[in-house]
Amino acid sequence: MNPENHTAGGMQTMDCIFCKIAAGEIPSRKVYGDDQVVAFHDIQPQAPVHLLVIPRKHIASLNDATPEDTEVLGRLLLAARKVAEDAGIAGSGYRVINNCGKDAGQVVFHIHLHVLGGEDLGPLTAPRG
Ligand code: AMP
Ligand code: ZN
Repeated sequence: MNPENHTAGGMQTMDCIFCKIAAGEIPSRKVYGDDQVVAFHDIQPQAPVHLLVIPRKHIASLNDATPEDTEVLGRLLLAARKVAEDAGIAGSGYRVINNCGKDAGQVVFHIHLHVLGGEDLGPLTAPRG
């Protein structure tokens, strides 16, 4: 069976939870949407503000992005800034994270940016024991 199907937003991988959120097929607390990008609250927030920014196009991870994706990758970053501004954390600061692959703990294989803020986020990585 072909694991992919076509939608208005481009390729959608069946059973991809973020494709379904982008298509409005499963609920999310959306904060932003345009023709290429959607942003919504993370279901398990790790900071007072924790938003996810995704492309409508299914790209599994940064490892799977190609030069064709240059525009949408830029749009993701600019959308991250916008949702940070709208959430009121642009001035106090925020962190934008992309987890790519196993060692980074990526669990949803549809590329996304985490936008975290609303408090002092501490060091970038946990201290080494
Ligand atoms: P990552 O480890 O970078 O793949 O992060 C995936 C993120 O997606 C996690 O922070 C999850 O809490 C979040 N997440 C998973 N399912 C949903 C959902 N249905 N709605 C919102 N956030 C979700
Ligand atoms: Zn997807």
